[in-house]
Amino acid sequence: MEERPASTLSALEYDPAPESAGLARLREGYGLFIGGAFVEAADGATFETINPATEEPLARVAQAGEADVAAAVAAARRAYDKVWRKTTGAQRSKYLFRIARLIQERSRELAVLESLDNGKPIRESRDIDVPLAAAHFFYYAGWADKLEHAGFGPDPRPLGVAGQIIPWNFPLLMAAWKLAPALAAGNTCVLKPAETTPLSALVLAEILQQAELPDGVVNVVTGDGSTGAALVASPVDKVAFTGSTEVGKVIQRRLAGRPTRLTLELGGKGANIVFDDAPLDEVVEGIVDGIFFNQGHVCCAGSRLLVQESVAEDVLHRLRRRVDQLRVGDPLDKNTDVGAINSAAQLEKIRELTAWGEREGATRYTSPCALPERGYWFAPTVFTDVAQTHRIAREEVFGPVLSVLTFRTPEEAVAKANNTTYGLACGVWSEKGSRTLWVAERLRAGVVWANTYNRFDPASPFGGVRESGFGREGGRHGLEAYLDV
Ligand code: NAP
Ligand code: MG
Repeated sequence: MEERPASTLSALEYDPAPESAGLARLREGYGLFIGGAFVEAADGATFETINPATEEPLARVAQAGEADVAAAVAAARRAYDKVWRKTTGAQRSKYLFRIARLIQERSRELAVLESLDNGKPIRESRDIDVPLAAAHFFYYAGWADKLEHAGFGPDPRPLGVAGQIIPWNFPLLMAAWKLAPALAAGNTCVLKPAETTPLSALVLAEILQQAELPDGVVNVVTGDGSTGAALVASPVDKVAFTGSTEVGKVIQRRLAGRPTRLTLELGGKGANIVFDDAPLDEVVEGIVDGIFFNQGHVCCAGSRLLVQESVAEDVLHRLRRRVDQLRVGDPLDKNTDVGAINSAAQLEKIRELTAWGEREGATRYTSPCALPERGYWFAPTVFTDVAQTHRIAREEVFGPVLSVLTFRTPEEAVAKANNTTYGLACGVWSEKGSRTLWVAERLRAGVVWANTYNRFDPASPFGGVRESGFGREGGRHGLEAYLDV
């Protein structure tokens, strides 16, 4: 195919189409949600959450200390003993349906708030994060009154109080993944959102009030890592953690010798495997979805592209053209494809690892897109000539950075895909079903997508093997993490 300069390809200009920030109904300050009420931290401590696209402060948020975490866990325990364990499944269903409906009603507000606090494009928060969060509540509302038919025996029991810690990449969606199955199974919860993205969980707490969920059934404690550590140290019956492998290991050590149940959803280094018979234009869209969705801040991102040698040149040519067309900028603009990096610290980590990519001899291609002056930005980047030993092939970059490797045979593809300490997700692209199944059977990963990538559904279990963690979220399997079975 004839090479054309990027400028003629991106000649189609888009006028700005920003969503109004006012829809987020931001308040100056947000409290902790304990026992059904919003309260200040016992010691009055607060922290600021900022908009990573502008570096401007959005709001002040209460920083929960040990006393606040203890109060939240005590409120959850009381609610469990006095109210929630006595509810019927049908009653819990009713609350979960209400919550789902209220998320839908307030979806525009939630989408704008999420994009402001996190930096993700409004197109994604509007079409993916918020609808999927509602879908999780709808899905588990349907299970709450059918637990005895879920294959866990005639009378499966809840665990009690669950401490739930979530990361910043999908703040509302991760809250939904944690709360919906826990509540359906009859547990009460203390949720700890990430420090850089606390706001949507606090609006979700307002929604729980609107739904008239009994006081204390869900509590939200905002703060930094020390708040999470205090929650792990407190007398909860279950800890559910989504975040880095490093912190996951700390938590596992902390819980050793305690009867507390644990599930860990950790990092990944997903391989997106492209065979020579796959339809290449669709493949390119899948590669882009795999690594540039949500700025690559995705645990299951297809961050390693494994492409069959015979089509590598063609795929890379098409991929570069496509990458040049990605629009990077204002997260609130409906035309934006790639938004802001969530924090200065994450941007620094991405810069460091990509510098290592060059230092270790990989060839770097960076989109020529213009980046805004303020805020945290990283242009979509593709590394070729990557060796399996390079840091960018082994470590999670958690940014819009793709490492490309090639293979000749299916055996080689499988060996390279499995050459990682992680095991969260992989993708396989081929027209031939038997080959896809042969490969999928041999991949050591919790999820394998065929001819698609980053596809999520509440009915489908998600989770990892090896250093990507253990336990499943979503589907019938997701209930098991919150039942005494
Ligand atoms: P992180 O640093 O591990 O933080 C995750 C959460 O743990 C945050 O709320 C954090 O609080 C808290 N935390 C930090 N130190 C803690 C401690 N010692 N004890 C208890 N809690 C503590 O991870 P992140 O950088 O926010 O998130 C990115 C990581 O999450 C990536 O590795 C990604 O792959 C993974 N992830 C996995 C999945 C999955 O389903 N497998 C999904 C999404 C993300 P602060 O934010 O306040 O520090
Ligand atoms: Mg923020």
